[in-house]
Amino acid sequence: MARAPLTHILRSQQFDEGFLSIILPMAAEIKARHGENKWSFRHRLKDINVLLLFYEPSTRTEKSFDQACRFLGSIPSTTQNAGAFSSAAKGETLEDSIEILCGYGYDFIILRHPEEGASERAAKVASRHGVSIINAGDGSGQHPTQALLDIFTIWEKFGRLKNLNITLGGDLFHGRTVHSLIYLLGKFKGTNFRFVAPKELQLRPDIIEYLTKHKKERRLSWTFEESLSKKILKETDVLYWTRIQKERMNGDGEHIKNFVLTPQIIKFLPKESIIMHPLPRVGEIHPSTDRDPRAWYFKQAKNGLYVRMALLSYLFHDH
Ligand code: ASP
Repeated sequence: MARAPLTHILRSQQFDEGFLSIILPMAAEIKARHGENKWSFRHRLKDINVLLLFYEPSTRTEKSFDQACRFLGSIPSTTQNAGAFSSAAKGETLEDSIEILCGYGYDFIILRHPEEGASERAAKVASRHGVSIINAGDGSGQHPTQALLDIFTIWEKFGRLKNLNITLGGDLFHGRTVHSLIYLLGKFKGTNFRFVAPKELQLRPDIIEYLTKHKKERRLSWTFEESLSKKILKETDVLYWTRIQKERMNGDGEHIKNFVLTPQIIKFLPKESIIMHPLPRVGEIHPSTDRDPRAWYFKQAKNGLYVRMALLSYLFHDH
């Protein structure tokens, strides 16, 4: 079967407008037609061998990829908690594990790993064997397929990706989903970002450099805030909230408070805005907020299935 031009999926900067113009409508079609019996996508991944190799916990990413494979006709193989249940526990390097696994006939390895840059390292090895790596989260680095489902959700709501006011809050320093999403939204003209975080968890310099580089030609703008104000909320189209990534910090992050969304706070958001969160939430969105029609985080998580189905179909489709 023909391979798409994208071999590995490592970071969201790889997704250009041409790719998005295919993948977003494809995901929308999958969402609309999923479950139909005679649907041509059902066998798209037949004879394709997928390995889910997860060295870090996952609910949504692992299960939505797993189901995406099954709905497309492939039964994936999974190693959850690979740090403990693979030779990594005996001290094997990631490179060696990938070298070996590539010899077992996998077409794709979907990899989650606690170290930033792990997917790039794996891709170097896998390239020699013609195997594709999909980054399913590498430490504080990136989570590109999450950015795809995030952007799909935004596109589904607004019908566009340009000229949007995006407010991102929480742990912007360690949060890999915000990194991938900012890199991707930074490709669209007129994006206006508000970065809301305590000083020590503000955005990393590499992302600010990227935005600065494209600021003029794409009319990008942004501000750094230490808390949400009524004014910011009133000007927001997408409120993207995140948890404090305690597992990536020294200390427990308990000192960081006042980042909890409640109905009293979100009442200032415009009627047509949406609230997103990559989940899991661990207290930073009060459950009473879930009843608000602007709370889109569960829809967003569900979209992960359709977007991952679209991505896998795209990667093994004739172009
Ligand atoms: N599930 C997302 C991730 O794997 C977000 C999070 O864990 O906070 O990065």
